[in-house]
Amino acid sequence: MPLQTMEGIVILRAISNGRDCLSLLSALFQGFTVLSIDTSATLVSVTVEAQDQVGLCPGCGYESRSVHSSYVRRLRDLPILGRPVLILAKVRRFRCQNSSCSRTTFAEPLGNLALAHAQRTKRLTAQLLSLILTTSSRSATRLAHQMGIQTSPRTLLRTVDRSVRSATAPRALGIDDFAFRRGRTYGTVFCDLESGRPVDIILGRSTEAVSNWLKERPGVEIIARDRATAYAEAARQGAPAAIQVADRFHLCLCKR
Ligand SMILES: [Zn+2]
Repeated sequence: MPLQTMEGIVILRAISNGRDCLSLLSALFQGFTVLSIDTSATLVSVTVEAQDQVGLCPGCGYESRSVHSSYVRRLRDLPILGRPVLILAKVRRFRCQNSSCSRTTFAEPLGNLALAHAQRTKRLTAQLLSLILTTSSRSATRLAHQMGIQTSPRTLLRTVDRSVRSATAPRALGIDDFAFRRGRTYGTVFCDLESGRPVDIILGRSTEAVSNWLKERPGVEIIARDRATAYAEAARQGAPAAIQVADRFHLCLCKR
């Protein structure tokens, strides 16, 4: 049974049975407590707050229970029976009590519900991505409207772009240059060395372009590259924690 239909059933029970059903709806918001549901002819609003009373500082990893302030994040979610859903998530800002940490306060993350600064839940973004990856942006927009999701072709294309850019890099990454147009223009190719597949290509082979690519995709542990200084410096700047190795192909070339 599709999740959307299940959500619809839970909501209808919640409306008819009152407060007891708020806890039932909480099952659909893992890690959160559903505080209230308001429905109108055009919108369902669900107010939630995180159950965890402890914040983990992203700067130093220290736990904190000291709440500095709170605010409300507004997130669009999957529609219920064709009716748009707005999540009002109460977010606490904790004080970091580690005197050597550069952060004085930090906001609690919303876990599986939404990314930082996002205006949509992860599940709504996933739904939009699955629509646009199977059809054109215009058709995907039409389908989304029929499902109760307000969007536009431009927004959908931005969603795809952001999703590709925010993807994490492979653990073991190979970086090499290649030539367009008989050597007049160069690009850089990034490969996942564990799967053996290319993950991206960019125009240019400058230190800045490659280090920016790495900064946007944290998590690289090993970088295999040629012996040119541009890629070595890019790796130092973009992924300072990664181990750099000169790949066997380029070492063999240099021995000739
Ligand atoms: Zn801290």
